[in-house]
Amino acid sequence: MRDRSEDGRLAEIAANLERVEARVQAACLSAGRGRAEVTVVAVTKTFPVEDVVRLHELGIRDVGENRDGDAAAKVAAVRSAGLTDLRWHFVGQVQRNKATSVATYADVVHSVDRVRLVSALSRGAVAAGRLVDCLVQVDLRDLPVDDGRGGASPADVLSVAAAIDAAEHLTLGGVMTVAPVSGDPSRAFHRLAEIASQLRTTYGRAAVISAGMSDDLEAAVAAGATHLRVGTALLGSRPALG
Ligand SMILES: *Cc1c(COP(=O)(O)O)cnc(C)c1O
Repeated sequence: MRDRSEDGRLAEIAANLERVEARVQAACLSAGRGRAEVTVVAVTKTFPVEDVVRLHELGIRDVGENRDGDAAAKVAAVRSAGLTDLRWHFVGQVQRNKATSVATYADVVHSVDRVRLVSALSRGAVAAGRLVDCLVQVDLRDLPVDDGRGGASPADVLSVAAAIDAAEHLTLGGVMTVAPVSGDPSRAFHRLAEIASQLRTTYGRAAVISAGMSDDLEAAVAAGATHLRVGTALLGSRPALG
């Protein structure tokens, strides 16, 4: 058995979590929002199953992954370790040939950015007998470039949303964005909030606004984000992807 008092990694993650929590609370306070309006999704990609267990021990129940192969293995390992009350968020680009697999374990897919993905996700969800909440990922860069970060153009959001809403075993949860690498994240986050409120005029329950990561979570809370996807600030820096 792991001795909790001697687990330096647990202490490190606990300290990080405390700092993130303080930032989220301060951001909520200055935005006049309740802390309960904002969910922190711990993005555990590249980190081991043990870190997911530690986060769970510290009270985290929402976990995010971005690659199907890693995510499927991690979900299975965490479940067989007896942790069944986590919500798994898939935040990475979904390849169409992986969509069916993603739908068998993800509770929320943040990155649905084209109609072609929807039927594959739906098939996987139906086959697994589960409901999957889907967010439309929106690309809010001024000049979209195909750099693999994904996202539907704002003009395509409604058609992707309609496809999700019509698909069996998928529910339309809301919208997501990744802030542009350069420039002011606030602008993108406010634009996302506008798109979200337009979407809610048709789909009243699509209330999720997934925005904000380690470096820009304050701006996201200020703009109305309901979900923050936080990796580095909780778990430390990831090895550079080769
Ligand atoms: C990795 C990742 C995050 C977390 O980013 P950090 O800067 O480490 O907090 C958030 N969203 C997506 C889509 C990611 O791929």
